[in-house]
Amino acid sequence: MLDIEKIRKEFPILETRVYNKPLVYLDNAATTQKPKCVIDAISDVYATINSNVHRGIHHLSQAATAAMEHSRDIVRRFIGAEHSHEIIFTRGTTESINLVASSFGETFLRKGDEIIVSVMEHHSNIVPWQLLCERKGVRLRVIPMTERCTLDIEKFRAMFTGRTRLVSVAHVSNVLGVTNPVKEIIEIAHGRDVPVLIDGAQSIPHTSIDVRELDADFFVFSGHKIYAPTGVGVLYGKEKWLNAMQPYHGGGEMIKSVRFENTTFNELPYKFEAGTPDYTGIIALGTALEWVNSLGIANIAAHEHALTKYAIKRLREIPGVRIFGEPDGAAVSFLTGEIHPSDTGTILDHLGIAVRTGHHCAQPLIEALKVPGTVRASFAVYNTREEIDAFIKGIERSIKMFS
Ligand code: PLP
Repeated sequence: MLDIEKIRKEFPILETRVYNKPLVYLDNAATTQKPKCVIDAISDVYATINSNVHRGIHHLSQAATAAMEHSRDIVRRFIGAEHSHEIIFTRGTTESINLVASSFGETFLRKGDEIIVSVMEHHSNIVPWQLLCERKGVRLRVIPMTERCTLDIEKFRAMFTGRTRLVSVAHVSNVLGVTNPVKEIIEIAHGRDVPVLIDGAQSIPHTSIDVRELDADFFVFSGHKIYAPTGVGVLYGKEKWLNAMQPYHGGGEMIKSVRFENTTFNELPYKFEAGTPDYTGIIALGTALEWVNSLGIANIAAHEHALTKYAIKRLREIPGVRIFGEPDGAAVSFLTGEIHPSDTGTILDHLGIAVRTGHHCAQPLIEALKVPGTVRASFAVYNTREEIDAFIKGIERSIKMFS
């Protein structure tokens, strides 16, 4: 059992008062708050070892490089990858997917080829593929949902053709909080020799990830959703794919030699890490993951699942509340009667309660649900049942005000 009150004390922002009320932060799927150890890790880098990485023979540069590479190994162990050089640091999930769309797309895709995504993807797992489709004459195919808001696996099975080159799906929907059967999806795709990218933005903070057990070809996530700073993320790719793929950005660090006649590229992971990386953020990402390890991801998940279950139970007690899908993760999306989601969000905000409202960067899913948007409450390890009680009271108040 985790000591949640003790954990809360590690998050300075949770002391904040909003409109003179205690902050209730239920927007964790958008970004998590940061524990003191992560905030300190950032200032410690600047106070003690700041120097550009990989290029210097002097002490500080070597210390910064060692700390950054230590983080790479922490990430490797965190997601069960075989090699550290399969871990590419990026700015986040969005950049990781754009990297694969660009580099995998340029290397392996030809006019008439097909990529499969699902209707419940975040825009960052749709638009990079659409841009690629426009550039290369590739076709995007979309896995639909069942009535129960789950991916329609039978329809997915039937979508493969001789031109299918990649499947790219979310592990957990950022709107519905529903976990997709990614292991089954990977097995089906691999049965047709098609590689799979898993968008782990919403699973990494709440699930133990083992990319080798999943047999994912690519797995991407953002640091800021798992207590790490903004501006840093990860692309895991199987060595065989990363080695075969063209570089993404050109610049320093990603080259072996540069001549005007011809340039040769560096080995993994540096081939995909052009320019000065956010080594401070990367080092703090390592700190965040070690912090998560110290609590145990299974303990964190158990706490969050209990909160989600409790929130669903309380929401279902309110007449007129409609919950979308069957959330099994750490987020729940709903509407209260005919009240517009942004009206509910505004009332909650005035009570100090932060939730997200609108389309959640998943417009095709919102369209499929035939609603103007939803209200989403999403949980992290520092949330409590008392906060959910305050949130439910806020919902009841908003219903009273609008009816
Ligand atoms: N994919 C999913 C499922 C997400 O929830 C998000 C962010 O909410 C993203 C991708 C994009 O993440 P980022 O903005 O950190 O790149």
